[in-house]
Formats: sequence, structure tokens, C-alpha cells
Amino acid sequence: MARIRKLLIANRGEIALRIHRACHEMGIATVAVHSTADAEAMHVRLADQAICIGPPAAADSYLNIPNIISAAEISGADAIHPGYGFLSENARFAEIVESHGLIFVGPKPEHIRTMGDKVEAKRTAGALGLPLVPGSDGAVSDLADARRIADEIGYPVIIKAASGGGGRGMKVCASKDQLQTLIAQAGTEAKAAFGDATVYMEKYLGNPRHIEFQIFGDGQGTALHLGERDCSLQRRHQKVLEEAPSPVITPAERERMGGVVAQAMADMGYRGAGTIEFLWEAGNFYFIEMNTRLQVEHPVTEMITGIDLVREQIRIAEGEPLSVRQDEVAFAGHAIECRINAEDPRTFAPSPGLVKQYHAPGGLHVRVDSGLYAGYRVPPFYDSMIAKLIVYGSTRALCLARLRRALEEFVIEGPVTTIPLHQALVDDPEFQAGDYTIKWLEEWLARAGGTGLSRG
Ligand code: ADP
Repeated sequence: MARIRKLLIANRGEIALRIHRACHEMGIATVAVHSTADAEAMHVRLADQAICIGPPAAADSYLNIPNIISAAEISGADAIHPGYGFLSENARFAEIVESHGLIFVGPKPEHIRTMGDKVEAKRTAGALGLPLVPGSDGAVSDLADARRIADEIGYPVIIKAASGGGGRGMKVCASKDQLQTLIAQAGTEAKAAFGDATVYMEKYLGNPRHIEFQIFGDGQGTALHLGERDCSLQRRHQKVLEEAPSPVITPAERERMGGVVAQAMADMGYRGAGTIEFLWEAGNFYFIEMNTRLQVEHPVTEMITGIDLVREQIRIAEGEPLSVRQDEVAFAGHAIECRINAEDPRTFAPSPGLVKQYHAPGGLHVRVDSGLYAGYRVPPFYDSMIAKLIVYGSTRALCLARLRRALEEFVIEGPVTTIPLHQALVDDPEFQAGDYTIKWLEEWLARAGGTGLSRG
């Protein structure tokens, strides 16, 4: 076992704060790193130490491995937590961290590498016994191969980049005559965006939900699951609002599928936090990918299990066993997270700039993870998510009532935000009934140019 005394947070924004909070509760000192654009950011203010690692562009700062390693050495940190995004799923970074004698708070580099290649990930998941979306067995080699596979699984099909991520690099092909064009386009675009032209193909499911399981492994062959999250509310394949538990998963189904997933992770010898993502349709799960890191939406799991996921990650990185056994994990109540972006709620155009007023909601079971404060300037260089509002209730109905109240209280003046979008969602009868799939939000937005948003 290796006690962590000082941890460098290789990230920014709300997740840097989230990690800082867990560290301070564990008696661990923190080192923030930041770009020149983030000198006034809250994570820099709260950390015990802060080191500037480069200019605003992420490629020169938050993705600058030599500068981050130097910052760790100069500050005497003994561990690095990568958060999500940036370097969190970069196997090479994890290896470099470890080769410098530092603890990487994350999975084994080989598992990051395997799961980062989506073709390899599917192969591995299949070998571990997870149900897959019908599709190509590995990469699609050429047009003839693509035609054969598509005929076999039936149209529509979806063509995906093996190195893709963040909801990008996917093309839906409705019929045979489009295949040639779309396969060529997908390859060219994948090469340009991810430096890898490899594509694979899957059956395009008509109207599924996105349901993912949170797992933890100790790296020694013990693993458990912390239930599912429903992340079906998406725009352009990006999550907008998440909830746990899913309105459609029964306790028996959670236990069964969670058991399958945890066993797969135990067999793999997985270490740390991970998420297994499935599409779910007509009662069946289909694996789509695994994320080898903490997720943006992890707080909804924390709310219904009472387990601090970042604390758990740090304990595992120190070589401690999992803090609970599967039979000690209890699920209670309901939690919803709203991702609040500095974007126009109708056009989704980014809206960075000075925060003139800021008032976060409070009260029982209301959590806000955000680095905002009045006088802060939201920089235009990074992701537009500026806050997460997470609300808990003993039932879904109580959770929704509390969410409506919390959204009413939230004041962010300056940047335009997506708070009105979430307010309109909470008032929608279909959403209230839990009756939605991954297509629902875009259709809802298209209807009348965004139902309910007129009140702004
Ligand atoms: P990424 O790594 O870019 O997030 P995923 O494979 O996780 O890509 O897919 C992201 C989203 O795209 C899913 O949540 C779902 O909305 C949609 N999607 C992916 N695969 C399929 C499929 N086979 N059928 C229908 N929709 C899909």
C-alpha cells in the first residue's frame, strides 16, 4: 500500500473541484495545474498549490504531458488524477505517470488501451460474455466486406470510427445504395478527426435507451457494480440529463445485469472506476463501449448509493481493497443530474464571458458541482459545461419536484445558459413519465422549435 500525501489534478472546471474536495476530506494536499486562461479559476484558488502549464489551447496545456509531469515533480506530488476528458483515457499518459514513480489514479494502462480502441473493446466485451450489438466482427476491411455485413445484419446500419468518441464519427446508413458513399466518408472523416481511418459497423437500433453500469475493480480480481444510470436524454449523441436508477430497469434486472458486468470486470482484473455503456431495447442490453474513467454523471450514482466515487478511486490507487462488498451496496431513492452549459438553450451557440451574478440553489438533497462565481469569466477555449445540478428524492416524483424548485432558484447572469431547457424538460409529461429514448430529446427540440422554451 502506498499512501498518497499530495495529488496533482490534471484537469480543470467542476471536475478539478470535485477531486480537490475528495482529497481534502482524505487529508491529501492538492496541486492544481492550469492554462493562462484559467489563472482565476476556482480550482486554482482552492488547491494548496497551483502551477501554470501553458497557454489557453488545451493541446499546449491540459494535454501537455511533459509540462504536467514537470509540475508533479516540482510540486512533489505522488499521484495524478486525470478527471474526465483531456488525458483521462490516454494509455501512454498513464504509462508515463507510472514510469516516473507516480501513482496514476485510474485503470491499468493496458485496459485503457484495449477499451479505447472500440473494435478491440467490443471483441474483449464479447469474450467476457457481455451481449453485443449485432455488427462487424472487428473492423470493416473494404466495401465488399461492408456490403456482406450490412446484408447479414440488415439495414439501417451505423458506421463508427474505431478511435471515435464524444459522440462524433458516426454515420447512419439507411439503405444499400448509400453504403459506398458513407463508408468512404466515414473513413476519411475518422482519419481527419482521430488520425485513424479504421471503421466498424453495427446494426442501427431503432429506438433504444442508453443505459450504463458503474463498476469498480480492485485490480486483483474483485469487482462490483453500483447500478445503472439512464443517459438517454441526448442531443447529437451527447448527454444532457442523466438519472439513476433508470425508470425502466427493475431491481431484479439491475441485480442480474450488474452481476454479469461485475463478473466481466473481475475476470479482466480491472482496476478503478469504469462505466460499461449499453443500448437497451425491448428488454435487451447491447454493449456499445466502456469508459475507463470517472464519468461526468457519476454524482447520480453517489446520491443513490451514498458512496463517494472519487474517494473510492483514490483508495484503490493506494492499493486498498474495495470499501464495500456487493451485498453491502444498497440503492435508495432517485437522483437526476442536469448538465448546465453556457449555451443558448434554443440554438446551442456557445456563450462564454463574464458571470455578473451567481446564486446556486440549496436546500435538502440539492448538490451543485461548479467552479462559477460572480466576477468569473467563462473562457471560450474549453467545453461549455459550467455547472451540474444534482438533485435527490426518495422517489422519482419527489426528485422531479425538487429539481423544478432548484432550477427556479438557480441564477447565472452573464453567459446565456441551458437552465430554461432543463426547466421545460422537467415540465414535460413524457419526461415526467420516464417515457423517452435516445431520439426523444432531438424530436422534442424540433417540435415547435423547442417546446416550452418561449418563456426563456
Ligand atoms: P461515443 O464514444 O462517441 O460516445 P458510443 O458508441 O458510446 O460513441 O455512442 C454514442 C451514442 O450514439 C449512443 O448513446 C447512442 O445514442 C448512439 N448510438 C451508438 N451506437 C448506436 C447503434 N448501434 N444504434 C443506435 N444508436 C447508436
